[in-house]
Amino acid sequence: LPVDGTYPSGTAAYEKRNISELVAEWDPDLCIQCGNCSFVCPHSVIRSTYYEESLLAGAPPEFRSAPLDARGLPDTRFTLQVYVEDCTGCELCVQACPVSAPADPARKAINLAAREPLVAAERDNVAFFETLPVADRSRVDFGTVRGTQFLQPLFEFSGACAGCGETPYIKLLSQLFGDRLMVANATGCSSIYGGNLPTTPWTANADGRGPAWSNSLFEDNAEFGLGFRLAADRHADLARSRLIQLRDVIGAELADDILAAPQLRESELRAQHDRISELKRRLHDLGQADRLAIDLRSVVDHLLRRSVWIVGGDGWAYDIGSGGLDHVLASGRDVNVLVLDTEVYSNTGGQSSKSTPLGAVAKFASAGKTMPKKDLALQAIAYGYVYVARVAMGADPQQTLRAFREAEAYDGPSLVIAYSHCIAHGIEMRDGLSQQYRAVASGYWPLVRYDPMLRTAGRNPFMLDSPRPRIGLTDYTQRELRYRSLSNTDPAEAERLGGLAQEAVNQRWDTYEEMATRGAHQFPADARRES
Ligand code: SF4
Ligand code: SF4
Ligand code: SF4
Repeated sequence: LPVDGTYPSGTAAYEKRNISELVAEWDPDLCIQCGNCSFVCPHSVIRSTYYEESLLAGAPPEFRSAPLDARGLPDTRFTLQVYVEDCTGCELCVQACPVSAPADPARKAINLAAREPLVAAERDNVAFFETLPVADRSRVDFGTVRGTQFLQPLFEFSGACAGCGETPYIKLLSQLFGDRLMVANATGCSSIYGGNLPTTPWTANADGRGPAWSNSLFEDNAEFGLGFRLAADRHADLARSRLIQLRDVIGAELADDILAAPQLRESELRAQHDRISELKRRLHDLGQADRLAIDLRSVVDHLLRRSVWIVGGDGWAYDIGSGGLDHVLASGRDVNVLVLDTEVYSNTGGQSSKSTPLGAVAKFASAGKTMPKKDLALQAIAYGYVYVARVAMGADPQQTLRAFREAEAYDGPSLVIAYSHCIAHGIEMRDGLSQQYRAVASGYWPLVRYDPMLRTAGRNPFMLDSPRPRIGLTDYTQRELRYRSLSNTDPAEAERLGGLAQEAVNQRWDTYEEMATRGAHQFPADARRES
């Protein structure tokens, strides 16, 4: 590490903490190549790739692969590589795997096994795996969980708790938006495992480019992220104006193509990236004398659309930073907000927030919280022009993926509220995904999306993505110590608060169901888009 206080990115990859005696082991014969395990892995330990069979010629003897399950690609192999020295043994991958061995239902296509007998061979396997080609982003299917797991994560091996419910969402951001991603990170767990200096899990791709990341305070992170947006827009404006001024010198066709380029699909972004590379070559040939060229060179990368994300936990979004968050959503600017909702101040020490649910025990609510959780989604929906989603990757990973992509594509403010299981819930972390499932199945955490573009197109913008509740609230809550502990200390109060919480779930479900059946005109219009 340099002695001047700077530090390189991607350094968490060197830690190789070997903290778990049990690690994930892949069974290529059972695997259906769905990608679920790597989607949920909180530590980016599972990677998948496909490649020409001939490349296996130099593989170590214990390197595992299977024929790629895809039409039109014969002689192509698939490998799911586990970085066993970074595996925390959290078991979420095993829980997410949908395949069981016919003769032994307890055995999945990925299982926990003792690390020691595996580690030497897996070191060689990882080294070989890293020589295989990385999937071309413009050819990956961004619309499926499976497809996205061929995308390189640029957030890896973080030191978050084993099985953390927050980090899979951050990893997904880094996969989907790659080196265009700019993250303003509020103080909290995500700022600690995101910048646990001198190591950091934020890393770069093979071109040496990665997301831009910085941390700000609880009280101003939304404004900090809005600053990212304003700066990126200002730089893009400057680049475009200089490009217009230099049009004839640079070449009119290239300049016009850059200025008119659509930049939504990955193939369009790839094409723009290539045009900018060509522009850089031509600018280099102009030399250092031209003032306009110097200006353009300094901001040229902003001609590629930036993806600005404001990230933080509920302590930030619901409490300390809520005024700023509201202000930024109301600005109408193209920012995306990801709330990693653990329903409690996690890293700060387990204090209750306005996201903590009715009846749960936390610091400052040791006798059970007597106020309900704030409905942040409904608050944002009230604006009419904010894209809003509530997701839980353990209940519906495809809905999570869809919401992330829609939020990013929407040209305006977006808010994604993500259920994040946490050690503060008092659960076995391997049950994190099934608890997410129960939160949704009980109606406690309805999956929703609100897309203002549908309102503009004359359709109902509110979509209720989860089915009607099919289990009682206590089937979900009583598996978590944060609720159960009140039953132990004050059973009568637990009963009272539990009954009121069930009522609140029923009432909210009725509200959502009614909203899902409204006509477009019953939601506010976006005056910027409609006459
Ligand atoms: S056990 Fe946990 S850390 Fe290890 S590969 Fe599975 S999900 Fe990832
Ligand atoms: S979840 Fe199971 S079946 Fe799916 S890719 Fe992983 S190991 Fe294979
Ligand atoms: S305290 Fe909770 S949110 Fe924070 S790293 Fe641990 S599991 Fe993740």
